Amino acid sequence: MSTAEELARLGRRLVELGLSRGTAGNISIRESGGTVVASPSGTDLGALDPAQLSVLTSTPSGALEQVSGAKASKEVPMHAAMYRRFGAGVVVHTHSFHAVQSSCLPPWTPYCAIPPYAPYFAMKIGNLPLIPYRHPGDPALGELIDEADLEFRAALLAHHGLVLFAETVDEAIAATVELDDACRLAVSLAQIPQARALEEEAVAELAARNGRPWGPRITSS
Ligand SMILES: [Zn+2]
Repeated sequence: MSTAEELARLGRRLVELGLSRGTAGNISIRESGGTVVASPSGTDLGALDPAQLSVLTSTPSGALEQVSGAKASKEVPMHAAMYRRFGAGVVVHTHSFHAVQSSCLPPWTPYCAIPPYAPYFAMKIGNLPLIPYRHPGDPALGELIDEADLEFRAALLAHHGLVLFAETVDEAIAATVELDDACRLAVSLAQIPQARALEEEAVAELAARNGRPWGPRITSS
């Protein structure tokens, strides 16, 4: 399957799973050579035409410049910031309902916007900072991702949605589902004072075992 076909498959699955509706959200795949294939501005992720995608290239400074195809989304600087952290892979940005709901609550800690209630959250996501609000498409969102002094593979964008990085399309689908479910759990349990997060030690152990970052950055003095 070509990169363009893989991107279309990713978009289709996100829509089938109810994680993207209308023309909300955008997705991209960066190949190892630095070429990025992205969903165009204002398109339905469930109906991406592999022949009509946006093609961009990474500049030496890590920005993304369009080289061909349909007009890229104005939210591309956020994808560029994720690729500056991780290199080749997949970036998903959705306005999925539960992620937006959670992004309107005060963050649980500086390194995790929601309490970790279920083990799969620790295994698939780990740290989840809440990136302060900026208007959609504001390049400052990319800068805030750069400036976050934390290891993370996914973040909530305040009053907006989620952004995450994954190595593969299948991992991206699984992580988006897990994150939206974790947000759904967090919002429903926020109304129950007795609800308890998973014990910190268990979260740290599961995250470490699955190569997911957990906790504040430890800087050696
Ligand atoms: Zn958005």
